[in-house]
Amino acid sequence: MVYIGVDLGGTNIAVGLVSEEGKILHKDSVPTLLERGPEPVIRDMGTLSLKVIKDAGYSVDDVKAIGVGVPGLANADGVVIFCPNLKWHMVPLRKIMQEIINKPVFIDNDATVAALAESVAGASAGVPNSVFLTLGTGVGGGIVINHKIYSGSHGVGSELGHMSVKYDGRQCTCGAYGCWEQYSSATALIRNAKEAIEGHPESLILAEAGGDVEKIDARCVIDASRKGDPIACKIYGEYIHYLAVGIVNIINSIDPEVIAIGGGVSNAGEYLMEPLREEVKKLIFYKDLPYARIELATLKNDAGIIGSAMLGK
Ligand SMILES: [Zn+2]
Repeated sequence: MVYIGVDLGGTNIAVGLVSEEGKILHKDSVPTLLERGPEPVIRDMGTLSLKVIKDAGYSVDDVKAIGVGVPGLANADGVVIFCPNLKWHMVPLRKIMQEIINKPVFIDNDATVAALAESVAGASAGVPNSVFLTLGTGVGGGIVINHKIYSGSHGVGSELGHMSVKYDGRQCTCGAYGCWEQYSSATALIRNAKEAIEGHPESLILAEAGGDVEKIDARCVIDASRKGDPIACKIYGEYIHYLAVGIVNIINSIDPEVIAIGGGVSNAGEYLMEPLREEVKKLIFYKDLPYARIELATLKNDAGIIGSAMLGK
């Protein structure tokens, strides 16, 4: 049997036909065109799924299930409860999708499905217990226990970005204080850089952004740090520290075999991983026992399709 994986993003809908082993056999994408509202978007997801199946040389009968990764939360009835960036509330995604392609439809959070993808065919392939982190606009997380997604008793068990790493820290968009994503997202790195260069316009961070404060992104900070700029090195060092604090909390809570790291900041590669592994080693509780390998995620943009598809397996 084969599986359909749908990666629903704010810009594009990507659909892939995926094998039992988590290999993409064929994929395609169309623009999301969010302004149309949810129903036409979901109908396009169904129509594109049919096209992908046909273009790959398969029939609908070969497809066991459809999985959809959404940037938000869904319930067991196949209703998308909330997608803040899409402005979707209580959307009956499964029902609309099944009007076009009548197969079992499974829906989960995009970071969660990426965790599943990495555990089937990526950085944590073959190990039963792993965690995936994505360092982007926020800090997204997914937990895989015994080869299965763990979402907790109420479906919100892998909101790792909202664990507190500083009890009296910055207030988060969720209302709490010191949430991890206020320190370890790309957004946090950029915000800290902008604040720091107010008193230090000579910092290379600004030069990396072509002199335009608004153009500062994570890459500017990381590249300025590579060149030894003291402000960038300080900010990046703090970033690594808080990232390690959260990772050690995860290790102390669930002791996974692999923690895979993806998202925009992970493009720094070993310049991120080397100091991160060192910092984790300093903070870890068990000094003499093996603990989680910290690895770069490998599937990049395909993680959404593969992980969604594997929901149906
Ligand atoms: Zn929060």
